[in-house]
Amino acid sequence: MNGLFLKPRTVPTKRLLALGIGLILSFSAIYASILWEMANKDYLTAEQAATNLVATITSEIERNIELYNLSLQAVVDGVKLPEIDTIRPELRQVVLFDRAATAKDLGSILVLDAAGNLTLDSRTLTPRKANFADHDFFRVHQARRDVGLFISAPWVTGEGEYLISLSRRIENADGSFGGVVAGSMRLSYFHDLFRKLKFGPEDSMTLFNTEGMILMRAPFDVDQIGQSISRSQVFRYFPQQQSGSYTTTSILDHVKRLFVFRQIGSHPLLLAEGLSLDGIYADWWREVWSISLVVAALFVFMIVLTIYLIAALKRRAAVENQLAVLANTDGLTGLCNRRRFDEALEAEWRRSQRSGTPIALLMIDADHFKAYNDQHGHQAGDAALTAIAGCIAGATNRASDLAARYGGEEFAVLVPGVNAEGAFELAEKIRGRLAALRRTQRERQEVCPTISIGLACLIPRSGDGPGDLVREADEALYSAKRDGRDRAVMASSSSKQRRKVAA
Ligand code: GH3
Ligand code: MG
Ligand code: MG
Repeated sequence: MNGLFLKPRTVPTKRLLALGIGLILSFSAIYASILWEMANKDYLTAEQAATNLVATITSEIERNIELYNLSLQAVVDGVKLPEIDTIRPELRQVVLFDRAATAKDLGSILVLDAAGNLTLDSRTLTPRKANFADHDFFRVHQARRDVGLFISAPWVTGEGEYLISLSRRIENADGSFGGVVAGSMRLSYFHDLFRKLKFGPEDSMTLFNTEGMILMRAPFDVDQIGQSISRSQVFRYFPQQQSGSYTTTSILDHVKRLFVFRQIGSHPLLLAEGLSLDGIYADWWREVWSISLVVAALFVFMIVLTIYLIAALKRRAAVENQLAVLANTDGLTGLCNRRRFDEALEAEWRRSQRSGTPIALLMIDADHFKAYNDQHGHQAGDAALTAIAGCIAGATNRASDLAARYGGEEFAVLVPGVNAEGAFELAEKIRGRLAALRRTQRERQEVCPTISIGLACLIPRSGDGPGDLVREADEALYSAKRDGRDRAVMASSSSKQRRKVAA
């Protein structure tokens, strides 16, 4: 026996899970894009701050070099004056060397003749005997007219002071080489300048020349002065670009930094600030951790909620299915109840009408059941009804068959898609099962009563209704009773030949 087309309610677990996962993925995508934006903003802000700082410091250095350059130019112009050799030495010192040249970080200004001999010294009236013909700054000016201000590589004095030389060429009236005016600038000037700046622990500020030689670096390390960074990535950009920025790992300390560089005026000097990426993104990481914790908690909550929802829906569906089964089941026999039978009869009748296939009905009634009840009591009567139901259920094992308790001691079996012969076979099968049962009960006092079966089989025609099928089966049942009970009788309209089957 089958519940006949009772569709159990199921929970779309996969779809609900997919919805939950989809929601989490969408939130994750939105969250990731927000984090990406935040990181970009931090990078751009750092880049902007570094660009501004580098611009400020380069212009400060440029202004000082320019002042010194002007002082050197003034000496170049002064030594060309015809009267300069005739005036008193004290006065000549005042005329040639202005106050700028006496600033703290500037060394003495020297005037060399065309042979490299020291002729004048800004710090003394009696210059020492010295020759600078083999110094790079002298040779550069001697060889070329167009050098302008020459800035030398860093060098160290006998007293251990680091300096760079700044020099200009003296030209005779005929354009020939007349000597060099040279001054020096202490690298401590840059050291003091960098010391005033506030850096992160991994940040750096480097001053270097266009040859890639370090003049000063913060954090300060004396060994790095004069060290070459000519392999630095900055030379991929310079000299095509006079300023710019890039991100790379420092070749000095292998820290990954954002570097912002700028040339100092048109001088062969470059300043680069390096901001460590760890420093740039430190706040960002803090925010990522704290927000991620909240987001992760939210995700866990969503997952738990989804699982709980699925479990609750499953429980509810199970209860509903159970209730649906109970609502359609006869409490005593476990067969379908009358309500379910009526529904199924309507539905199957329409289906047969549409498809033009036969539909059969068996009406089954216990024989002399009143007497059985009177003799053995109602409890034994109930047990007999349950036993008859068991025989009916055992015989109707096709998915489309529906066995129901029609009322009292009457049962009905709806058999769609089966012709009269098929239905008759089923009736006999039920009776056969009951007969076998009765044989096993022979020793007992209460042997199950026999049953009479009325059968009808119709191919629904227009104008017919399911009531016609019931009526015909009922009539056949009464015929079976009339003819002596314990038999199956086919309705006369369903089969020309009425069959009687004796017990
Ligand atoms: P017939 O062979 O003509 O069908 O005679 P019958 O006695 O079976 O028919 P009748 O309609 O006179 O009696 C049916 C009896 O079935 C009456 C009632 O007491 C009994 N009955 C109906 N429902 C139940 C039930 O649920 N349990 C029990 N024990 N008896 C029931
Ligand atoms: Mg009856
Ligand atoms: Mg009866």
